[in-house]
Amino acid sequence: MRTIGLIGGMSWESSAEYYRLINQRVRDQLGPLRSAQVLMYSVDFGPVEQAQHAGRWDDAALILEDAARRLQAGGADCVVLCTNTMHLVAPRIEAAVSIPFLHIADATATAALEAGTLTVGLLGTAFTMEQDFLKSRLAAQGLTVLVPDADERKAVHRIIYEELCVGVISDASRQVYQRVIQTLAARGAQAIILGCTEICLLIQPEHSALPLLDTTALHAQAAVGFALQGTGIATTFLAAT
Ligand code: GLU
Repeated sequence: MRTIGLIGGMSWESSAEYYRLINQRVRDQLGPLRSAQVLMYSVDFGPVEQAQHAGRWDDAALILEDAARRLQAGGADCVVLCTNTMHLVAPRIEAAVSIPFLHIADATATAALEAGTLTVGLLGTAFTMEQDFLKSRLAAQGLTVLVPDADERKAVHRIIYEELCVGVISDASRQVYQRVIQTLAARGAQAIILGCTEICLLIQPEHSALPLLDTTALHAQAAVGFALQGTGIATTFLAAT
């Protein structure tokens, strides 16, 4: 089995979810007492979040390049960046190491296309919904990506930072997300990308009028696919490497 390298802490609420999902999948595939070989470097989210909101992406990239190098030095066979937003600096992280970087958009686009979905609604931070780094990678793989309108984006973004990243799950916020999903459905979305790794803590399939493409689960699944490649275990999803 290969060793999965996770860059976590953004926020740790979702990193815990990655850790749980990865180990659960390895147990399901290999047997009850089996678990994943994992290294996690978990950053202090404070300086990263401050850099994001100040537009100091270079500063954030330096922190994550350092994290990736530490994972490689520790023996990780791949790098999994446990946040959509920080994929904005994915090329920098990828260039900092020689081990494969498993991009969250690739895991997501593969699952969408396998489900026959061509038009998706994207929920995430304002950075993810408004900038191009994730949307263009999804579009390059054949997906049409719809984002909520400006007021809705503001509400979705606020709930991520003020609630989900600090462990607050509320019915009122779930209803806000449900209304946004309904609007995206009316505009033609066939599925919703939970394009922020904490949204799965608030919105599960039973809360949504549309099928969900949960980036946390799909990315974790891709990581396990990578870890088990070459072991002879049939994985249902193999990450491109
Ligand atoms: N985890 C979130 C994401 O997937 C938001 C926190 C962050 O900005 O990294 O985008």
